[in-house]
Amino acid sequence: MVRVNPAIIILGQNSLSIARKIAAIFPDSQIYGLRDRTSNTDINFTNFGETLRELFAAETPIVAICAAGIIIRTLAPILSDKRAEPPVLAVAEDGSAVVPLLGGLHGVNDLARKIAAALDAQPAITTTGDIRFRTALLSPPQGYYLANPDDAKTFISNLLAGEKVRLEGAASWLEKSNLPIDPDAKLTIRVTDKAVLPTPDCLVYHPQNATFSLTQLSPIEPEIAVSYVQQILENADLAAGAVAGFFALKSDMGHPVIEAIGQYFKVPVRFLNIPELVEFDTVKLIKYNACFEVTAAQIALTAAGANSQLIGYDRTNAFSCAIALATEPIDASAIGISRGKLAIVGTGPGGAHWMSPEVKQILREATDWVGYKFYLDLAGTLREGQQRHDSDNREELDRACFALDLAASGKSVAVVSSGDPGIFAMAAAVFEAIDFRGKPEWQGIEIRVAPGISAMQAAAAAIGAPLGHDFCVISLSDILKPWELIEGRILAVAIADFAIAFYNPASTQRQWQLARAIEILLQHRDAETPVILGRNLGRPGESVRVCKLGEFQAADADMRTVVIVGSSQTRIVPRKYGGDWVYTPRRYEK
Ligand code: SAH
Repeated sequence: MVRVNPAIIILGQNSLSIARKIAAIFPDSQIYGLRDRTSNTDINFTNFGETLRELFAAETPIVAICAAGIIIRTLAPILSDKRAEPPVLAVAEDGSAVVPLLGGLHGVNDLARKIAAALDAQPAITTTGDIRFRTALLSPPQGYYLANPDDAKTFISNLLAGEKVRLEGAASWLEKSNLPIDPDAKLTIRVTDKAVLPTPDCLVYHPQNATFSLTQLSPIEPEIAVSYVQQILENADLAAGAVAGFFALKSDMGHPVIEAIGQYFKVPVRFLNIPELVEFDTVKLIKYNACFEVTAAQIALTAAGANSQLIGYDRTNAFSCAIALATEPIDASAIGISRGKLAIVGTGPGGAHWMSPEVKQILREATDWVGYKFYLDLAGTLREGQQRHDSDNREELDRACFALDLAASGKSVAVVSSGDPGIFAMAAAVFEAIDFRGKPEWQGIEIRVAPGISAMQAAAAAIGAPLGHDFCVISLSDILKPWELIEGRILAVAIADFAIAFYNPASTQRQWQLARAIEILLQHRDAETPVILGRNLGRPGESVRVCKLGEFQAADADMRTVVIVGSSQTRIVPRKYGGDWVYTPRRYEK
């Protein structure tokens, strides 16, 4: 199976079976279906143009099962940088045609061939070089790095015009191609791990055979650390493009020097544990008075695998390091673990239409989803290979610790909350776990919080603008705080004349709190004050109701309801054809 994550887009239910066939070859893919026209897809969308442009901008490969013309017209206005274009393909609704449209530098033709093979169709390859030479010189296979892509266009044109090419160094993908190879040719393709100066007449490919390890890190300016690496590679006579990855100990995960180096060289950074490391004959290093590089040497050799050789080691004031060379290109992403990631995301109150693009992307890319079952169901369907960890809605701290442990093992974890994750939800639980139950291995995890639309915003938007002026938010749940405190707060804000959004107004076990809250409010607020009950907002069974504080029945609210009580200024505006708007003016009348 191929590990790319295309978004497979369908506009009608007819296309689902073809989409499924394509999805079967890409375990990381997701099927996007047009809302109301499709069902049983991974993700729903309402606006085709926006969705396509969003995916394109995020460099997600796109396979759209529709007419090529629609895709062309949609993406044409935003085409600007050939290098940043992801593969985009059109597939005929009956699977009879596969048309690569964009993303020549990112293997669109290879994708077209794979999809066409699965559908038993012909890929419509139109890239002359690709057809003639049976290889895309501009996008070499994984494990090879093209050092001078800017020279490649003219180089390929010359080949197409009849020039021959000389091959220096070995790479089976080039040998198996249909390139016009001739030992006396003027043009050269050179495969080397050395940093050679490329010329327009010579394409240089670096096999990614080298592993670069880093230990004993000190805090130092990232640019300086990067320049040390460059210097060390130069001393070892090794091209930066030949480095398959950077490797370090798990205890150094998250170190800014490693992060900076990984980002600069754009190759994977992977982490190993000491017990995983190969034995190393330390005498070799001690001879050179370099005993502090032993671990570095072990890491580089472990990552490069059997029969690899140490070709360099060094100590700078930023790190100790070693370089090892394998006999074949290395897939660094298969060695050790990557830096763990934990994103606490808010999916909004309802379905996909209220989820931010950032949250959608995190959910798509995560290896694991952690959360309360009901919220995970709302977050959408998993793609193949993703794990779901359902939990009880109550054990938030245990769930946070579980998610942190998972991330520390190198996973990319999405902790899913409904609404906003920072409002009565999992983000605070994660930070509480770090604060009170912190483990050293959690230190290296990359943590981020991705906001969502909170229930009160959805309720407010549905009815107008009741939170248009100062307001406060109170959870009526007394599971984690004593009721006296809550009562005190309700009294204080009632006096201070805030509009109030009540979360967790009631549950099967908790019924009387809301009634008591209303009682307190009525002591300081008019019985005519508008109250809004938003239930199941954005979900099936959504309802939004307006009533007056004096007539409000606590039994009308449950755990799926958010209650907004207006301030003294909140007003009801009748709509001509039924129903009301509610808003709180921004100007304050005394
Ligand atoms: N993080 C969530 C709140 C979680 S607390 C957010 O920002 O929205 C759970 C409470 O939120 C529920 O008891 C209810 O009061 C409210 N709530 C969450 N989703 C809702 C929805 N779709 N409709 C109405 N109320 C909702």
